[in-house]
Amino acid sequence: MAGKTKISIDVSFNKSIQLKHVAGSALQKEKDGQKTKRTLGVTKPKVEFSQPVLHWDEVSDPINKTITLAIKEVTARVTFSARIWIDKRIDKKCECYAHVFDHEKRHAKIWQAGVKKYSSAIQKAVEDATLPKMDAPEEMKESKAKAFRTDAFKRIDIAFNEAVIKYGKKISAESKKIHTSSELKKTNNLCEEYLL
Ligand SMILES: [Zn+2]
Repeated sequence: MAGKTKISIDVSFNKSIQLKHVAGSALQKEKDGQKTKRTLGVTKPKVEFSQPVLHWDEVSDPINKTITLAIKEVTARVTFSARIWIDKRIDKKCECYAHVFDHEKRHAKIWQAGVKKYSSAIQKAVEDATLPKMDAPEEMKESKAKAFRTDAFKRIDIAFNEAVIKYGKKISAESKKIHTSSELKKTNNLCEEYLL
């Protein structure tokens, strides 16, 4: 079949970060914070994705009742975003607040950079699962075509989901690297009164 299979996966990070001041009790349930006595802030990633859409190219042979199928294009979209929660007890004018907010913004920046870094890997995972491609179409009995299309969709959908989760976990791990002992010391010093 003419042309090349196109993989159009839109991977993006939403730069408008939602900031919320929440009760301390809500923060204590979060697991990703620094190892302080109390968690004062947290960055919560969110991921929204659309199911992939497969655009098929097909050629029918009505005499032999066969059909030749190939995938022309796969489109899908995934958007990562981050929400920052900060303990509402912290005075917004104090050094502790500036420190916690800055710390959380660093997490968000790592998410932003990570999404950019792994965008092509997510594309590649979808590309690898996309079969049959235009340069290698498959001919089958008409009666088999429906199941064949369903299987292809499932395979691509799973690959896309798994890639989003896999690279999301990688970014999450990279984000935790800012939890150094010196950072912890800084938090403990600047936020002493809120950690009791
Ligand atoms: Zn942190």
